[in-house]
Amino acid sequence: MNVLEVKQVSKKYGKLDVIKDISLEVKEGETLVILGPSGSGKSTLLRCINNLEKINSGNIIINGEEMIKEYKSSKPIYNNKEILNKINLSTGMVFQDFNLFPHLSVKENITQALISVLKKDKLEADGIAYGLLKKMDLISKANSYPCDLSGGQKQRVSIARCLAINPKIICMDEPTSALDPELVGEVLKVIKDLAKEKRTMIIVTHEIKFAEEVADRVIFMDEGKIIEEGSPSQVIENPKKERTREFLKRYINIKEDKMEKLNSNEVEPKKVIKFFEEISEIPRESGNEEGIKNYLIKFAKERNLEVYEDKDYNVIIKKEAAKGKENNEPIALQAHTDMVCEKRADIRHDFEEDPIILYKDGDYIRANGTTLGADNGIGVAQILALLDSQDMKTPKLEAIFTVQEESTMIGAINIDLSKLQSKKIISLDGGREGKILVGSANCLEWKSRLEKEYISVPEEYTRYELKYDNFKGGHSGGNIGDIKRGNPIKLGISILKKIEDVYIEEVFGGSQVNVIPRDFDIKFYTKPSKLLEIENLINEQKEFYGKVNIEIKEIAKGERCFSEKLTNRIIDFIYNYENGALEYVNNNVILSCNMAEIKEDENYVNIGYSTRANNLSLRNKYLERLDKLVKKNGLEIFWSQELKGVEQDINNDLILKCNEIYKKIYSRNLEKMITQGVVEGGFFLSKVNDLQYVCIGPNTEDVHSPNERVSITSLKNTYEYLQELLISF
Ligand code: ADP
Ligand code: MG
Repeated sequence: MNVLEVKQVSKKYGKLDVIKDISLEVKEGETLVILGPSGSGKSTLLRCINNLEKINSGNIIINGEEMIKEYKSSKPIYNNKEILNKINLSTGMVFQDFNLFPHLSVKENITQALISVLKKDKLEADGIAYGLLKKMDLISKANSYPCDLSGGQKQRVSIARCLAINPKIICMDEPTSALDPELVGEVLKVIKDLAKEKRTMIIVTHEIKFAEEVADRVIFMDEGKIIEEGSPSQVIENPKKERTREFLKRYINIKEDKMEKLNSNEVEPKKVIKFFEEISEIPRESGNEEGIKNYLIKFAKERNLEVYEDKDYNVIIKKEAAKGKENNEPIALQAHTDMVCEKRADIRHDFEEDPIILYKDGDYIRANGTTLGADNGIGVAQILALLDSQDMKTPKLEAIFTVQEESTMIGAINIDLSKLQSKKIISLDGGREGKILVGSANCLEWKSRLEKEYISVPEEYTRYELKYDNFKGGHSGGNIGDIKRGNPIKLGISILKKIEDVYIEEVFGGSQVNVIPRDFDIKFYTKPSKLLEIENLINEQKEFYGKVNIEIKEIAKGERCFSEKLTNRIIDFIYNYENGALEYVNNNVILSCNMAEIKEDENYVNIGYSTRANNLSLRNKYLERLDKLVKKNGLEIFWSQELKGVEQDINNDLILKCNEIYKKIYSRNLEKMITQGVVEGGFFLSKVNDLQYVCIGPNTEDVHSPNERVSITSLKNTYEYLQELLISF
C-alpha cells in the first residue's frame, strides 16, 4: 500500500522553480533515500510533504488523505483543518540542525507534542518518552537540556521526538550533516534500526555508503527534478545518467571497466616499459616539470653521464660513443617531458598528485580514464632505455629533454643548443609507425576577449542549459582532419545561431588552445516556443556524432544575462569562424583552424583559437578573413604567438639514412610526412645552422584525450628500428 503519493507537484519561491512536476510514491515499510546536489530541492520536497511549505500545483496524498481539496482558477485550495491535522500527524520530520526546544529538557522535548497536540496526560506521555529514550540509549539524559548534549545525542533526541507521535512517514533531512564525523555512526545506527523495523522513511543524505545499505529505493534529484530512480545498486553503483555519475564521483569511486595492470616484466620492450612506468609515477602536466627534471638528473648521475639542466628544467644528457665509434658524428635524440592532462568527467584524478596507472588493454597501453602521457613519455622512456644500455654500438648520443611542449613551447624556445655537437636530431615525438615526419606547420595562436555586459532578463524568456560532453577531442594539429570528432563549441553556437532570439548568460567550453574541445556548456535565455526546434537540431547532431552527450534542459530563471550586442558578437564570431581542416594536398591537411576554448572570468569572455599552415600564401589569405571577423565583432586580442615550422631539404642525409635502415628491415620506404602540428624541431632548426631533423614514434591513438593509447607491438617495432638506426651511424 502506498503511504505517500506525490503527484506532479511543483513549488516556486517567487519566480524560482524549485520543484518541477515531481511524482513519486512510497510504500508502507519502505526506506527511500533521496540524493542530489545542494540546491536541488530535496529539503523543499520534504517540507512540502510535511506541509511546512505550500505547493503551487499537483497534490500530495498521505495515508489516503489529500492535501489539496481542489483547484480554483489553477490555484490549489488546501483541505480543511481536520484533514490537514491528520496529515500533519501522519508525517514527522528530523532536521539537519535538530530543531530542539532549548528551554525544554530532553524528556519535555519529546512529550511536548504528545501533551499539547495529542492531548495525552503527562504520565502517559512520560511513559512514551522513557520508552523512546531507552531505545535511543539516552535514559540518563532525560532531565538534561539540549545545550548539555553532544550533536549525536541531540539528533537522537530529535529522532525520539519524531517517533513519539508515531507518524506513518518519517522524513529526515540530512540527519548527520551537522555532526562531527565521529558522531555520525551512532545516529546512522539508530536510523538503520528503524529501517529494520520497517518504518516508512524518506531520508535525504550525502552518506552514500549508508544510503546503499539502508535504502530500498534511491532517487537522484537535480534542479527540482527526479533524474534517476531505482534500487541502490542501479543508481549508486551503475548510474545511467551522466549527472548522477558526476554527483556520485565526489563521494565514491565509480566502478571502472576491468583492465589488466601493465607488467613491465612481461611485456616487450621491457626496458622501455619499465622506464615508462617510472616516469608515469611522476606528475608532469605541462608547466610542472620539476619532478621529472629531478628524475632525469638522478638517472644521469647514477650512470655517470654528463648532464645539464637549465632554469626552465630542460635537461641534456650525453653518453659517450661505444668503442670504435669515437670518431663518428654524434646523434641527438629528443623528447618532451610534459604531457597534456585530460580526464573523463566521471573519473577522479589529481594530476598534481596522482600517478598515471598503466593498463594493458589488448595490444594497447592506456590509462584509466585519463590521458596516458605516451605523448611524449614513451619517447622519454625509449631514450632512457638507450642511454641505460651497456652494449649498443652507437656513436656519441646527446639526449635532449624539453619542457612545456604542450603549452608554451618555452622549452624548445629557450633551450641552449650551443652545447650540442650533433647536427642531426631524431625526435621521438612522432605517432605513426612507417612514417617519418620531415616538415611541420607554422602555428598561430590567439586569445581574445570581449568585455562582459549584462542586462536584466527580459520577460517571457526561459532559461536553458545546453550541454555537450564526451566528444572525442584530440590534438588540434594531428586530429583536426577527422570531422567526426566535431567541435562542441561550434555545434552549440550553431544551434543558437539558427534559433535566433537568444541571450547568452554563461558560456564555458574546451580546455586549451592546442586541444580540440570535448565539452561545451552554455546557459541562455530564449522563448519556450523555440525548444522543439532546438531539440530537433540536437537530434541531428547526435545522429551525426554518435556516442556523445548533448542535452538541453530548462533551469530556474536567474536575474541577468549578456546584452544583445555581446550575445550577437559571441555567436557571430564563433559561428563564422572557419573551423577544422580547410585545405588539403594529397590527403594531407595544409591549413586548419581550431576553435579551442571559450571561458569566462570576472570581466571578460575569453576565446582561444589557432591556425596551422604549411602553406604561407594560403594562410595569409585566410588571415585576412579572420582579421575582418575579429574586427567586426570587436574582439580584443590580448595574447598571441607564432610557432615556427620545420622547413628543410626532405632528401638530406638524415632522412635518407632513416629510410635506408627502414627499407633494410621492412623492404619498403618510409612515408614522409608534413604535419599540421607544431613541432619543437621548428625552434631547433632556427638555432643551429645546417641542422637536420626527423621525428618518429610508435602508433599512438587519440592523443590528448582520455582515450590515449599506444600500441605495444608498434612500440616494440619502433624501438628495434631506432636501435638499428643508431648503430648504423
Ligand atoms: P536542497 O535541500 O536540495 O539543498 P533546497 O530545497 O533547500 O535544496 O533549495 C532548493 C532551491 O530553493 C535553492 O535554490 C534554494 O535557494 C531555494 N530556496 C529554498 N528555500 C527557500 C525559501 N524559503 N525562499 C526562497 N528560496 C528558497
Ligand atoms: Mg537541503
